[in-house]
Amino acid sequence: MTYHPKKERYEKMLYNTCGKSGLKLPAISLGLWHNFGDDASHENKRAICHTAFDLGITHFDLANNYGPPAGSAETAFGRILKDDFANHRDELIISSKAGYDMWPGPYGEWGSRKYLIASCDQSLKRLGVDYVDIFYSHRFDPNTPLEETMMALDHIVRSGRALYVGISSYNSQRTREAYQILKELGTPCLIHQPSYSMLNRWIEEDGLVDTLEELGIGSIVFSPLAQGMLTTKYLKDIPENSRAGQHKSLNPDFLNEKNIANIRSLNEIAKGRGQTLAQMAIAWVLRKGRITSALIGASRPEQVIDCAKAIENIEFSENELKEIDKYAVD
Ligand code: NDP
Repeated sequence: MTYHPKKERYEKMLYNTCGKSGLKLPAISLGLWHNFGDDASHENKRAICHTAFDLGITHFDLANNYGPPAGSAETAFGRILKDDFANHRDELIISSKAGYDMWPGPYGEWGSRKYLIASCDQSLKRLGVDYVDIFYSHRFDPNTPLEETMMALDHIVRSGRALYVGISSYNSQRTREAYQILKELGTPCLIHQPSYSMLNRWIEEDGLVDTLEELGIGSIVFSPLAQGMLTTKYLKDIPENSRAGQHKSLNPDFLNEKNIANIRSLNEIAKGRGQTLAQMAIAWVLRKGRITSALIGASRPEQVIDCAKAIENIEFSENELKEIDKYAVD
């Protein structure tokens, strides 16, 4: 069936300026890490993407290795771009990354110029686009000079393969170093992509949030639902069709008594706010306007609809925040 995006798609979503750039990102973005591999139905992938775009979610996040197999999520999204979003490329922010294991041999992972540029070219081919909007170094490489990794990102922009660059999961100190090198090269660091949720607060402890604000780098936080733990789905048992039930990246050991008790308490607070737990978890990472975008995943369109409603209430009273702090622990 031909897809026609909803005319009212820009009416409700919030768009936040990404650091000190001119680029706005939706407060909620969609990641294609899971559910976009060859093991999932193409119709469901399409439905998830259509639902997201209809709700004003203009940003789709990928990486070279998303699948399985690695690369297949980019291929699937490339097909959706061609079949459904062809007339809307300029309304979309598409990102990809390189850093993790992608192909055999010494040039298929980490942060060398050789790997990053080859991987970016492969991603463009799979996606069927001339450029991505954001290209990331997916992880800091302790064995490659940071200058080399950043010069590769700079080259990727100057050669027209990407419009902006970012870094993912770099700690505060490495972020400062990367920022400075990129600044000297003349290609600003647009954005940082770390993990962050009520059950994973390392970016507060590391000082990364403060660093990003100080340097004017935008922030998009991945796994704000702690891979689905910050929803009600695991409160009774582990459903078979869930990420933990399918033994994907969510280790069922995290669903221990202590965590489940905390999640139950957080769910009660969410109810008091008139939100689902998923909505409160997203609202919480966006509180006080310090984070540019919450990067969610979804296994079905209904989850995107539920999550998108989070923006209807992202204000928290001091009391609510204090109460949440009791249970929002790593
Ligand atoms: P989330 O924490 O949002 O978890 C998504 C999962 O939660 C879904 O697949 C689904 O799981 C469940 N879920 C989502 N919404 C709902 C809802 N409303 N009700 C019930 N369950 C729900 O994020 P992800 O861990 O998927 O990560 C998001 C994105 O972040 C990735 O796609 C990727 O783009 C990026 N990422 C980046 C990394 C990096 O190193 N830079 C690392 C990891 C992720 P279920 O399958 O159980 O239904």
